[in-house]
Amino acid sequence: MPVPVSQMWTVATYVLKQKLMGRKRYPFVLMLEPLFRCNLACAGCGKIDYPDEILNQRMSYQQCMDAIDECGAPAVSIAGGEPLLHRDMAKIVEGYIARDKFVILCTNALLLAKKIDQYKPHPNFTWSIHLDGDKGMHDKSVCQDGTYDRAIAAIKLAKSKGFRTQINCTLFDGTDPERTAKFFDEMMAMGVDGMTDSQARREQVLTVLQPAPALLRLAPLLSGILLPMTYAPHWLQTVAKWNPFSWAVDATRALFASNPADASVWKALIIMTVLTLAAVTWAARYFAKSVR
Ligand code: SF4
Repeated sequence: MPVPVSQMWTVATYVLKQKLMGRKRYPFVLMLEPLFRCNLACAGCGKIDYPDEILNQRMSYQQCMDAIDECGAPAVSIAGGEPLLHRDMAKIVEGYIARDKFVILCTNALLLAKKIDQYKPHPNFTWSIHLDGDKGMHDKSVCQDGTYDRAIAAIKLAKSKGFRTQINCTLFDGTDPERTAKFFDEMMAMGVDGMTDSQARREQVLTVLQPAPALLRLAPLLSGILLPMTYAPHWLQTVAKWNPFSWAVDATRALFASNPADASVWKALIIMTVLTLAAVTWAARYFAKSVR
């Protein structure tokens, strides 16, 4: 499921342009939520709990165009709420495509069959169908039976009309990996053009970290990889300075900032090389002992 060459080329030239202009931070994707109203009521959804005066609000076509013009990112991901409830959604998508943006339109697909003829297949346009696993998993996740079947029918319809179509999948704690792998296989067999998943990563991280000693769990946190340590109290910054991970993080930041001559880079190289050699030697000896 490769990213289309045109998309890779556009993003690569965009990044190059930002580098040439000396910009250190720039947006890749505009995450647009033009409304919070939805025609589903999934448990735990943070959007649909807003009061009616917010759920009744819509971003106008012009506001949506202004957002991308101001942002300048090469891609837009439209979510919600349910974007297909927005009566100008097809016009908004067209407006973005006319600006040569890549558009990913996320939908729970309940209205897709009714609205699909308002859209035209285009290399820059992708449907992203909300599907949280197989029939049992998805219907449970969105709290409505029959939703999986409608999403599958929508995927088949969109594919038959020549649309690029992917799925977005939220995997919750306790998800069965075998069952999920089977679901992904089924989606690939159906010919979906891409799959994105969220939450699974959180679970994997937890799975990896749970057996680790508390110190190991603290090490990444104290490296500043999640939040810059400048936000931390002074004593915590001092502790972080003695954390080898923070040297690696500082060096990586310097490299990303196109600053390979920064002192943090060579320091991290020396320190991490020594630590890696020591760790590999210790691990090899420990392994050899344990299999004897
Ligand atoms: S489909 Fe998305 S926006 Fe709608 S209720 Fe479910 S989680 Fe919320």
